[in-house]
Parts: sequence; C-alpha cells; structure tokens
Amino acid sequence: MADVLRYDKDCIFCKIIKGEIPSTKVYEDENCYAFRDINPQAPVHILVVPKTHIASCADIDAENAHIAGEIFTAIAFIARQEGLDGGYRVITNCGEDAGQTVHHLHFHILAGVKMGERLL
Ligand code: 5GP
Ligand code: ZN
Repeated sequence: MADVLRYDKDCIFCKIIKGEIPSTKVYEDENCYAFRDINPQAPVHILVVPKTHIASCADIDAENAHIAGEIFTAIAFIARQEGLDGGYRVITNCGEDAGQTVHHLHFHILAGVKMGERLL
C-alpha cells in the first residue's frame, strides 16, 4: 500500500509539489518530484524531493528509508534524461552547519562544469 503523503502548509517545497508555487519540472513519478533550482549554482542545477514532507536526511528511518532508494533511482533516470554523460554531483544539506535553508529533504544535482576533487 502506498504511503499517505504528508504536507506541511509552511513548506515551500510542499507547495511546489502541489503546484501552489510554480516550478520548472524536470521529472515526476509517484514518489518524487524534480525541478530546476531558482538560483542555480552550476549550468545544470536540479532539486529532487520526495513528495511526502520529510525535514532532512536526519529524519530517514527504517520506516521511510525506501524513499532514499526511490530518490536515487529518480536521480539516475534524470541524469540520463538530461544527458549528464560527463558526470554530476549529488548533495544534500542536513541542518544548520551544512547550510540547509529549506527544511524539506532535497538532493541537489549539479552538473555542466568541471568541479574537481575538492568538496569544500
Ligand atoms: P539548501 O540550501 O536548503 O540545501 O537548498 C535549498 C535550495 O532551494 C537553494 O539552492 C535555493 O536556491 C532553492 N530554492 C529556494 N526556494 C526556491 C523556490 O521557490 N523555487 C526553486 N525552484 N528553488 C528554490
Ligand atoms: Zn515539505
């Protein structure tokens, strides 16, 4: 049985998923939604989010861990769809020190530029 989707009325990504805030959709399935970042940090900058509200990866547990697999399956599909043959970086910011600003779990796909080996 499919999970009941949780909606947080104060969350901008929940509003984007519902279509209450416009976004440039890249991909959608039963569990995930992907759209272009409004303030891109690379030539390709896509956000992939679960349709259900989860605040961050710190809230992944045994019950909802399947969402991580669904998201990474979507990421691989999106990368092929967008032709990211040269590679891409996937980032999720978790909490204040990591610079998380939107508290709905999301994965950044960054591509289209040579990023090198350093992370920070
Ligand atoms: P964080 O810093 O939480 O990891 O990333 C949040 C991301 O969401 C940022 O890259 C920011 O540009 C993006 N963002 C914030 N508000 C909106 C919005 O309304 N629409 C879109 N498309 N992206 C947004
Ligand atoms: Zn949300």
